[in-house]
Amino acid sequence: MTIGADPHTLTGAYAVDALDDDERRMVEEHLARCPSCVQEVRELTAAAARLGLAAAAPPRRAMKDEVLRRITTVRQEAPPSRPQPRGAAAWHRVRRAPRWALA
Ligand SMILES: [Zn+2]
Repeated sequence: MTIGADPHTLTGAYAVDALDDDERRMVEEHLARCPSCVQEVRELTAAAARLGLAAAAPPRRAMKDEVLRRITTVRQEAPPSRPQPRGAAAWHRVRRAPRWALA
């Protein structure tokens, strides 16, 4: 259980059944006296159900083939190895770049 959790912040997790027993009990006790959270849970539950149905739809075969074909030509970006310079350091780097690079 999340100690000191505000039940208002748990409605999303409650709607997708992602709470432990203590959290679920706390939210259900809150729902008994908070109509706005009842409405929010109702809407989030409906949205989660729609998302579940959308994820279950199989892609068209042609689309899947095209994605698999193109994915072999897209190069993955490497994660940055260090923070990008900002402010004066970035400006200094731009100033040192060749003039043709700025054109
Ligand atoms: Zn509430």
